[in-house]
Amino acid sequence: DMAENIVHLVLARTPDAPAGVRGISLFIVPKYLPDADGKPGKRNDLRCVSLEHKLGIHASPTCVMSFGDDGGAVGYLVGEEGRGLSYMFTMMNNARLSVGIQGLAIAERAYQQAAAFARTRVQSKDDGSAKPDSVAIVHHADVRRMLMSMRAQIEAMRALGYYTAAGIDGALKQPDKAAGRKIQDRVDLLIPIVKAWFTDLGNEIASTGVQIHGGMGFIEDTGAAQHLRDARILPIYEGTNGIQARDLVGRKVAKDGGETMLALVADMRATAEEMKAAPGDDIEAIRTGLVAAADALEDATKWVAQSVKTELVSALAGSVPFLRLAGTALGGWLLARGALVAQTRLGQRDSDPDFLEAKLVTARFYAEVILPPALAQLGPLKAAGRTVFVLSEEQF
Ligand SMILES: Cc1cc2nc3c(=O)[nH]c(=O)nc-3n(C[C@H](O)[C@H](O)[C@H](O)COP(=O)(O)OP(=O)(O)OC[C@H]3O[C@@H](n4cnc5c(N)ncnc54)[C@H](O)[C@@H]3O)c2cc1C
Repeated sequence: DMAENIVHLVLARTPDAPAGVRGISLFIVPKYLPDADGKPGKRNDLRCVSLEHKLGIHASPTCVMSFGDDGGAVGYLVGEEGRGLSYMFTMMNNARLSVGIQGLAIAERAYQQAAAFARTRVQSKDDGSAKPDSVAIVHHADVRRMLMSMRAQIEAMRALGYYTAAGIDGALKQPDKAAGRKIQDRVDLLIPIVKAWFTDLGNEIASTGVQIHGGMGFIEDTGAAQHLRDARILPIYEGTNGIQARDLVGRKVAKDGGETMLALVADMRATAEEMKAAPGDDIEAIRTGLVAAADALEDATKWVAQSVKTELVSALAGSVPFLRLAGTALGGWLLARGALVAQTRLGQRDSDPDFLEAKLVTARFYAEVILPPALAQLGPLKAAGRTVFVLSEEQF
């Protein structure tokens, strides 16, 4: 009732359509059929039969639609018959980038709230001080570790999100067709990573936000739990994260034998080379992490590109750990690039040293604390295929 008319974009089959995705067409199905003047006229045969009772995102009224209960809804074919799914794919990159950004946004909100709480909640004495007084929990090492891990991963996601979005614009605006195609290939490779890695982290970071609140995190009044509930849909809709990993391995890496991913690895190594000339312990620690990330991503990509041809099921069993490794490694690369700029700008007159030092420290934390466990996905991604199908269906 909010709008004069509602237009549903509906995927449906025509009567003689072939089985499978090639039989799916795209239709516009309006709530009110247009009259002779193109104004909303007679009601179409469709209705909302219920609202879903969901775990989170309660302000988004996801509903069950029923079409054709009274003889048939009228739909207007969009484009050609049988091309519905491919038309949907034209919206897919944008939608997947946007859902990834939802993961980032919830993570950022959870971080801001947790940081504010940590500065005001007083509990226990300061381990680094002889004073017996209780202090705000932001003084405790483990709370700092949680805040740093939220902050570092958010910065890495944001960098990869911008990089991907800039690639979308770059591919559109590039006058040279072949160069534009190369940028688009890189975007296509990154989209499932942005969607799945960002939304998995959105959940993990929202959960860390609850943890920083202690018992109050479990109480609805603080709002910390709402972020966790709202984040839970993100790895599910717009193609589950398992499907994103399948797309990354089975389509994107398989398509070019890993060439696009290996070009990214070459860019990571070029940044590591550039860093050799920059001074400081932070830069050296970040560079060490970056080289390890490039090594692991190269090894994993070559294994996936080979396995997808010779033992597809093993490659798919390792697809989620592969995506995780790729996202974390690429995020580390972009933080390293940021750190390099920060280091260069630090001595300059008009710079903001607090901001630049925070960039360096955050990138170092990421390189030393976040990267190592993620790079250890190399073992699991190669091993999963050996055991996932050993038990029979009945044993589950
Ligand atoms: C709140 C909400 C809003 C939504 N909004 C929209 C919307 O606006 N438009 C729209 O079109 N859809 C929408 N959806 C639908 C949503 O996109 C799907 O629910 C989602 O893509 C998962 O599909 P499914 O539910 O059929 O799960 P299934 O495909 O049944 O998946 C179940 C499990 O099996 C796994 N799986 C399935 N196939 C494979 C495979 N081949 N390889 C490996 N693993 C596999 C999945 O990863 C998942 O873990 C919405 C859903 C919800 C809950």
